[in-house]
Amino acid sequence: MVLPERMRRLPTVDQFWPSARRTRRRSLSEWKRLNREIDRCRRCSLGSLRTHVVIHRGSLRPRVLFVGEAPGASEDRAGIPFVGTAGKRLDRLVAQLGLLESELAIINVFKCRPPGNTFNLEAALACRPFLARQIEFLQPIMIVPLGANAVSAFRPDLLPISHAAGWLSRWRGLLFFPMIHPAAAARSNALRRRWERDGKSLLKVLSRLGAGAGPAPVSSPATTS
Ligand code: SF4
Repeated sequence: MVLPERMRRLPTVDQFWPSARRTRRRSLSEWKRLNREIDRCRRCSLGSLRTHVVIHRGSLRPRVLFVGEAPGASEDRAGIPFVGTAGKRLDRLVAQLGLLESELAIINVFKCRPPGNTFNLEAALACRPFLARQIEFLQPIMIVPLGANAVSAFRPDLLPISHAAGWLSRWRGLLFFPMIHPAAAARSNALRRRWERDGKSLLKVLSRLGAGAGPAPVSSPATTS
């Protein structure tokens, strides 16, 4: 998805953060209520164009939360995030990291597919509150945004993605480790190498946290800023 300049000026997820609810205990009924709300949503025009809304895949108590940009055609058909070609690449990374199903979750910035995978300003504004509420419920220790659109929902100051990817920082106290989108990694050998290099850096960070497969040699920097 191409990221227009105006995206950098959009409100970030912070502005929709439900801070008053932060200390409340999470209940499954709360999660189900949120999912029903998203499922019925027609706040933007994408709601009437989708086949299925795409909400979440994985654990409800993840240590690592991958945040993609938007559902593609495969995800729209299945109603599940990252089940297409890019999803297979992400699954391979997850396997290399040694992450268990119980340790990870995958969501998207947009819950409905934008036709042609084009940026949709209306959806970007309308869907932010759902993203904030999902993260507030899931409470991961690390967010891995995949691609520029996902990074811009949290930390547009880190863009462009060529600079942001592979570097560890923080967002609202959570570890924040952007990567390029797995679909982009298929576009050239250079991007594939970047994806693999940043994956090794992520493995190193996770091993320090006691998550995933443990230590492995890394070749790129991974420092907390
Ligand atoms: S993209 Fe988000 S805001 Fe728009 S209809 Fe779907 S769930 Fe609602």
